[in-house]
Amino acid sequence: MCEFCHKHGEGKKWYLQAKNYSEDLLSDLKRRKFIADFLSHPEKLAEEVGKLEELNRAPAFVRRVLTPYMSGRQKKAHFGQVLPIEDVEHIFDFVNGIVRAACICRQANLGTEQRYCYGVSMAPQGGEFQKIIKEIDASYLTGPDTAGLETLTKEEALNSFRQHEKEGLCHSVWTYVAPFIGGICNCDRSDCMAMRSTVTYGFPVMFRAEYVAELNPELCNGCRQCMRACQFGAIGYSVANKKVIIDPRRCYGCGVCRASCTKDAITLHDRTSIARIW
Ligand code: SF4
Ligand code: SF4
Repeated sequence: MCEFCHKHGEGKKWYLQAKNYSEDLLSDLKRRKFIADFLSHPEKLAEEVGKLEELNRAPAFVRRVLTPYMSGRQKKAHFGQVLPIEDVEHIFDFVNGIVRAACICRQANLGTEQRYCYGVSMAPQGGEFQKIIKEIDASYLTGPDTAGLETLTKEEALNSFRQHEKEGLCHSVWTYVAPFIGGICNCDRSDCMAMRSTVTYGFPVMFRAEYVAELNPELCNGCRQCMRACQFGAIGYSVANKKVIIDPRRCYGCGVCRASCTKDAITLHDRTSIARIW
């Protein structure tokens, strides 16, 4: 189990604990303000990632000091963890409301509405979280000139997630002042600020899944489709063996490679089961 499971899940997967989605957590005024500020200002996100890009060029000793500080700050406020589709399904099993909304990262980056973010709530109609969203001035989230918030059934949401996975997007669950969880996103390295910050600039705000991918070399035909799909650079190719190799130290456990493999040669395993090789 990861540090978040110990801190927010009493040793179990923290994002599978219903209490972390509770409406009660939204009575905290600081949390409400954080959510409203975060969702109202996509331009601030873009500015922050711009600063990280500059910091990425800073001398190593500056980065060594700043990285844990910045990462620690995010772990208290807004951090994400990668999770595979089976755990997304487990979450959809116990939440009572799922809404699809425009992604704030794509809004900040591309200036267009891209519907890759899903709000999850214990209240059937999205409860307090949706009320906060509706109160803020963010027309790309609420309409009327855009699709606004769409309420989905569990099956509709799962089908969309399967489609996003086929598109190569990795699922991640997000806090809005930890441990409150407000949504699940579908990320890629070019448009998702958190993934860029984590993978491209080395300032972690999005953390590895509780899983790691494993290859069955007997089934692998060396087509390299999985290698093209992996956004974390965890898959290499052995010219000699004509098969791919998965590096568990780089793998984030998203399962996107598994979805891209027509030979069923990749499976996900509990990360702790391979701890011996680290
Ligand atoms: S997609 Fe499957 S068959 Fe193709 S290289 Fe990857 S693991 Fe092997
Ligand atoms: S190897 Fe597979 S599971 Fe691991 S990060 Fe890459 S795509 Fe995700």
